[in-house]
Amino acid sequence: MEFTKDFKIPDPVPQAGIEQAVKLMETGRMYRYNFHAEFEEEIDPSELDDELATEVTKLEYEFSRYIEHKYVIAVNSCGSALFMSLKAAGLEYQDKVFSNAFTFTAVPSSIVHAGGIPIYLECNSQYLIDVEDFKRKIKQHPDAKYFIASHMRGHVSDMEAIKKICDEEGIYLIEDCAHSLGAKWSNGKHVGHTAKIACFSSQSYKMLNSGEGGFIATSDERVAAYCILAAGCYEKLYKKHLARPFNDEIFEELKPYVPNFSLRMTNLTAAVLRPQLGILDEKINRYNTLYDQLAGILETVESIHIPPSLDRVKRAPDSMQFNLLNFTKSQVDQFVKDTAVKGLKIQIFGRLDNARYFKNWQYSFTEMPELKQTEEIIACACDLRLSPSFTTEDIDTIGRIIKDVLKDIVGETNQALSSV
Ligand SMILES: *Cc1c(COP(=O)(O)O)cnc(C)c1O
Repeated sequence: MEFTKDFKIPDPVPQAGIEQAVKLMETGRMYRYNFHAEFEEEIDPSELDDELATEVTKLEYEFSRYIEHKYVIAVNSCGSALFMSLKAAGLEYQDKVFSNAFTFTAVPSSIVHAGGIPIYLECNSQYLIDVEDFKRKIKQHPDAKYFIASHMRGHVSDMEAIKKICDEEGIYLIEDCAHSLGAKWSNGKHVGHTAKIACFSSQSYKMLNSGEGGFIATSDERVAAYCILAAGCYEKLYKKHLARPFNDEIFEELKPYVPNFSLRMTNLTAAVLRPQLGILDEKINRYNTLYDQLAGILETVESIHIPPSLDRVKRAPDSMQFNLLNFTKSQVDQFVKDTAVKGLKIQIFGRLDNARYFKNWQYSFTEMPELKQTEEIIACACDLRLSPSFTTEDIDTIGRIIKDVLKDIVGETNQALSSV
């Protein structure tokens, strides 16, 4: 049995996005501020329907409605969004920033970019931030006053506990929602409201696909004004934002003190994203169906453990993570190799060729951090991307291949053991 579909296949752009992008290119109006209207108060962006080049402004408004934050700033990546969030939060050179050890390299990179020093927190067996380790690290680093909590692969940590500690300790909390767009709390609220700032990604392998792209979402007026300016809004261009605080004074007050980092989103990017927002919930449902089906198959396998998410989180999983139980390193590598031969692309987080392994982030520390617990968990943690283009039969095939390969590996080992 072999799986023949491409695991790296990105989601296509809806036709409406393609047509709008072509129009923008025909007129050359790709710059986000290349239109006439200015806004002194909130208007319904459908009033701007005939005005070309308003794509980014409209997208910010629409995303703010979707995610239920007052203000949204569209930027060129989530890494940029995290970087600007730290600047907006007041981070200064060599300030320490707590973050997960189990995340993607873009997160510590954004901290380094902002001039900060990451302090890594252990992950627990559910792939979540270990709250006890957070408490320990606060004692070790009482001067650390920032925290990027990353919902790595959409695994949402105990944010209530984290928020409570942050409030008590005066730690500024930022949420990395690059991979949790669509995840909700059981009260129906989107993930990304615990912290003052939430950052999102529309890089190709996230829930929205514009190749590159990101968002800063906040309901804090000052943070919003700072990030609008920092992204590359100068003079009175803030008047062309719809998802902004309608308080010109705050922009005028901040403007001389905020660098222009030129991290804007282009209208082309926004044009391909806007129609995707309309079908996002449908896509999330599709992912959940596929995920549940595959989890149902893998849960029956003895050597596999799929860590449960928190009861109060409804995830939006666009990939599957599971741990191989009591496997040696060579068995894990064998599993990756054998499944690859049959067409699956499974990656192990804790490997030196993986950008999600903290040991590969030497740019961010002078001394290798000791993170035994994280190390142990990610050494056997498998990562498998899903695609909404997969069918029920595809998922069955994937499940069968994993089961068969595991049976061979475990079977061989048992035989080897009994012959000793
Ligand atoms: C992808 C990703 C990012 C970075 O997003 P970009 O838009 O590529 O900069 C940050 N954090 C996590 C957890 C991610 O998966």
